Amino acid sequence: MPHPPGKELVAGESMPYLGRNYRIEIVDDQREPVYFRNIFFVSRQAIGQGKHIFQGWYKGKAQEKIIPRVRQLARDLGVEYRQIKISDSKYRWGSCTINDNLNFNWRLIKAPMFVVDYVIAHELAHLLEPNHTSRFWNIVKTQVTHFDKAKGWLKEHGEILELDL
Ligand SMILES: [Zn+2]
Repeated sequence: MPHPPGKELVAGESMPYLGRNYRIEIVDDQREPVYFRNIFFVSRQAIGQGKHIFQGWYKGKAQEKIIPRVRQLARDLGVEYRQIKISDSKYRWGSCTINDNLNFNWRLIKAPMFVVDYVIAHELAHLLEPNHTSRFWNIVKTQVTHFDKAKGWLKEHGEILELDL
């Protein structure tokens, strides 16, 4: 379960990352606020900062994992864009602007990789077709292996978008 926003972090609770939940452990003597190794190790000194420490960690991972994936899938599809940004929105997983800039929500890094790929492919397909026409969906489907599964996941977990954490 995602951690309720604003609540104090407690050992034994868990946080999602790439579609799986990982346990939180509070540790002493750790330089980074959050250190991940199949467990979220949270420094005791950082607990007071609450959710912000996880937001920073998620945003860093989103940069690290999503941006190279966008570059790769854009090459596969043969499309060009201007800029990729990791964004913060409560309403969208991703967007493609009229100027061919791509934005991806940092919260996407909580989703499984097949969902990340779907959202990326969706926004990249908008570079070829701005509207959700059948041509658009055909382009997306050729790029994504788990199309229905990804759409289902997003529908079921849409509330993640509204969480601060
Ligand atoms: Zn769209």
